[in-house]
Amino acid sequence: KIVVVGSSNTDMIIQVDRFPVPGETLLGKDFRIFPGGKGANQAIAAIRLGGDVALVARLGRDLFGDQSLENFKKEGLNVQGVVQDKELPSGVAQITVDAAGENTILVASGANNALSTAQVSEHAGLLESADFILMQLEIPLETVTFIVEKYGSTGKKLILNPAPAYHLPVKMYADLHAIIPNQAETRFLTGIRVTNEDTAVHAAAFFHEKGVEVVVITLGAAGAFLSSPDFTGSLPAPEVNAVDSTAAGDTFIGAVTAGLCTGMDWKNAVIFANRAAALSVTKFGAQSSIPFLGQVEKHF
Ligand code: ADP
Repeated sequence: KIVVVGSSNTDMIIQVDRFPVPGETLLGKDFRIFPGGKGANQAIAAIRLGGDVALVARLGRDLFGDQSLENFKKEGLNVQGVVQDKELPSGVAQITVDAAGENTILVASGANNALSTAQVSEHAGLLESADFILMQLEIPLETVTFIVEKYGSTGKKLILNPAPAYHLPVKMYADLHAIIPNQAETRFLTGIRVTNEDTAVHAAAFFHEKGVEVVVITLGAAGAFLSSPDFTGSLPAPEVNAVDSTAAGDTFIGAVTAGLCTGMDWKNAVIFANRAAALSVTKFGAQSSIPFLGQVEKHF
């Protein structure tokens, strides 16, 4: 069983010809609303791809919060750990996309910032039932640190996607089973720019030296680099017609965790995740682009 502890946001996207400047009012084009947030995206990827998944998240008691909760239920997630804050609004992201496909993103975390150690403690039963605990950094670092300290040496497998990149307390690493950064996050955390296998091995060594057992560095269209006790090397992603890479990383991480949860070893889980994430970039949107297990099996 997988428990994801993480963020949920509502993405609001306006297409514009060009970005407005301060003080300017500009008429945009299409407006669209999508459910998002790394925690919710990864939980939905994991359940669509065969995992048994519970989500611990914090929403507002507002329209967006109600919609997110409905969405989680529709996906089949266990929502016992999803709380609606009495005061804070739901997390939102205001996104503008210009004619060149460039974007600006403004996030107001709202209730995500109140996903506290107290909420985690209230749902201790849920976390205790987990084989895998999956986390990102869109909730307070203190909460992530608390979970890692509490469950790091209980035999549960803790997986961290260090996104967005923050400096982590060094002692946290020893309790992580796996860390899954992309290239930018890897550079931020290790100072190493991963451009080939040599640099990937070096970057992975940075994490291993601090006690992380498994390191996966995602490499966009090139797939991923896996450094584990059983296998170390690059695993390419299938070639696809890429149209939108939003949530590719989230799909990859949810898929890896679902693969492990259904009994795959790390190498096969990464191969599976490359396939699922590659399929996700052939479609627009975040959660709307996350494939189901049957689609991945049919396609590859
Ligand atoms: P992020 O979305 O966090 O920046 P990456 O860009 O590394 O992460 O992408 C995550 C995963 O998505 C990759 O490891 C790969 O499996 C898949 N992926 C991303 N872009 C492509 C692409 N153009 N073609 C095929 N697979 C892709």
